[in-house]
Amino acid sequence: MVHLLKSEIQYLPGVGPKRAELFNKELNIYTFENLLYYFPYKYIDRTRYYKISEIQTDLPYIQSIGQISFTEITGAGHKKRLIAHFTDGTGSIELVWFKGLKWIRDSLKPGVQYLIYGKPSVFNNKINIVHPEIEKLSKVEKNINSSLQGFYNTTEKLKNHFITSRIIQKMVMQVFRLVHGKLPETLPEWFIKQMNLLSINEALLNIHFPESTDSLQKAELRLKFEELFYIQLAILRLKVNREQFVKGYTFKIVGEAFNQFFHKNLQFELTNAQKRVIKEIRKDLGSGKQMNRLLQGDVGSGKTLVALMCILIAIDNGFQACIMAPTEILANQHYLTLSEFLHGLPVKVELLTGSSKKSHRNLVHQRLLSGELNILIGTHALTEEIVQFNNLGLVVIDEQHKFGVAQRAKMWLKNAMPPHVLVMTATPIPRTLAMTIYGDLDVSVIDELPPGRKPIKTIHFTESQRLKLNGFIAKQIDIGRQIYIVYPLIKESEKMDYLALEEGYHQLVQAFPPPKYVVSMVHGQLKNEEKEFGMKLFLEKKSHIMIATTVIEVGVNIPNATVMVIESAERFGLSQLHQLRGRIGRGADQSYCILITSFKLNQDARRRIETIVRTYDGFEIAEADLKLRGPGDLEGTQQSGVPYDLKIANLARDGQLLQLARDKANELLNSDPNLEKNDNEIFRKQLIEKRQQQENWAKIS
Ligand code: ADP
Ligand code: MG
Repeated sequence: MVHLLKSEIQYLPGVGPKRAELFNKELNIYTFENLLYYFPYKYIDRTRYYKISEIQTDLPYIQSIGQISFTEITGAGHKKRLIAHFTDGTGSIELVWFKGLKWIRDSLKPGVQYLIYGKPSVFNNKINIVHPEIEKLSKVEKNINSSLQGFYNTTEKLKNHFITSRIIQKMVMQVFRLVHGKLPETLPEWFIKQMNLLSINEALLNIHFPESTDSLQKAELRLKFEELFYIQLAILRLKVNREQFVKGYTFKIVGEAFNQFFHKNLQFELTNAQKRVIKEIRKDLGSGKQMNRLLQGDVGSGKTLVALMCILIAIDNGFQACIMAPTEILANQHYLTLSEFLHGLPVKVELLTGSSKKSHRNLVHQRLLSGELNILIGTHALTEEIVQFNNLGLVVIDEQHKFGVAQRAKMWLKNAMPPHVLVMTATPIPRTLAMTIYGDLDVSVIDELPPGRKPIKTIHFTESQRLKLNGFIAKQIDIGRQIYIVYPLIKESEKMDYLALEEGYHQLVQAFPPPKYVVSMVHGQLKNEEKEFGMKLFLEKKSHIMIATTVIEVGVNIPNATVMVIESAERFGLSQLHQLRGRIGRGADQSYCILITSFKLNQDARRRIETIVRTYDGFEIAEADLKLRGPGDLEGTQQSGVPYDLKIANLARDGQLLQLARDKANELLNSDPNLEKNDNEIFRKQLIEKRQQQENWAKIS
């Protein structure tokens, strides 16, 4: 028998097909169960009633009891409104409606006690409440046994159909009358005891109708924990599965290629963090299991070098390796860097991107298949089926957040057994988010920059300080440095953005005229040759200034460029600003990041700019970003396949709980990897049900 909870919402008394459709469309509520999991977004203490003489405009939502003395309809057109004068003997306020005037006027009776609820404001020197909730007292009394009243989000459309928070609450009440006490438990009894949680019955009842603040907190705890726990359990199950069933190539030795590089070519000491991380990776590579590891490290922390050393181990064991980068510029850069690092060693590196010539491409394919090539560097072109390796052992994916999970999966198929996978990211993500987006990967962190770097000075300028800025740029060029100037480019405003870029370019060329100065430009509307030409001028120090869009955001490494000017900096996100700033400060000279904004900034933008000026700590910036934007907006989270419409938990605030949930899920899987024990049947069933729900969502949206 299908449980009552799965009944369609239209069958709830008082709902019917019309309202049901609204609930489907507006709130994604299809079943009784969906409604039970539609939680209030805030709670108001309804034990307090205000006398009308006590009502002030700076109060939040308040409730008050009184009578209607008289009503009037005034104004015309869209200013037409109904005013009801509301009094309790201590004073009087106006209740105002702009919609449904006649209907409401007819329903308001003189001499009746009403309970009203709303936010006081002031108009024409009088206190009023616009669109208050109003009910006859006798009817309401029954429902006021709960002192904390939940409030539910509604939409314009719902409000137009008189579906208020109050109505939703009544519907929830209906569901409880029908099913309370019969709600199937969603966690095993032993687990609930061990974790000291409320039962699902108690938790849901108290999230909607809290008995007290204490029981509300307990209800929140149970529901948040459960939500995070099942996400972690699903992610970790994937990992356990893979570890059980997916074998990997064993790299037994460290040989010629690695040793020659390490002793002859490497010009500097590895940082301690680099050494530690290389050890962690080596252990994976020798374990006989397939490695799936995330290498996190701030911009400039030396991830490329770590990747290269792992690649050399693969080569020493008779395998090929590849590096996949999100842009051609970055792939190019890797190619140059690696070629330089490997100078004089018998290791063959090639580059393959979308703009590789056909003849070159064919040759690369051949040499790859024959095993003559050791390392292939490229863009997503590497995922194409035609790119076949002789014996691929290690895949390095740079700036993973620019790729989808699907592209990672394609690389798995490039050898008989899946190759080891190392994904690298410089986008610092808070630990909580990493546990979720990259929850199925093992994580290594480089938390140390190579020595000798001078901290970058970050300065905020407004538009009006442009002359000063130009003076500064001129001075830097005089002492031999190069300058980046970056413009925002956003799809929605692409045309305008390109215009701004062009205009900026012309103004700059006027301020820095040839032949003394050379300005190059790189952006997405240029042909590849033009882009490369601009890049090359700058790389070879033949141009002083490079104007660009965010194409230079990731990976570019030009130590002589010491100034990063970011135009309209208020339009960039925090992590993007941090990435851009990471392009400089790579040599021994003092570097400067200059953020240009308009004079007026909204609060969010101001906070972003303040944060980036104050700190260089990528993780602090990531946390700030998460708090300002919420997880759904963070770059990369959309493709990750993790459900982000968390109903109650909040990745920015519930970090500790998430850690606990992950630990518990790990513990459980250690003792019962496939959740086969009788005691764990509920876990297994819930995982299946949650997966189905997610698939259904995918179909709906
Ligand atoms: P990431 O990819 O992590 O942003 P890179 O790998 O591009 O950083 O490294 C930044 C720069 O630091 C490169 O020029 C690299 O050669 C250099 N580098 C890497 N490791 C060290 C080290 N241990 N000591 C000095 N310089 C290093
Ligand atoms: Mg890099």
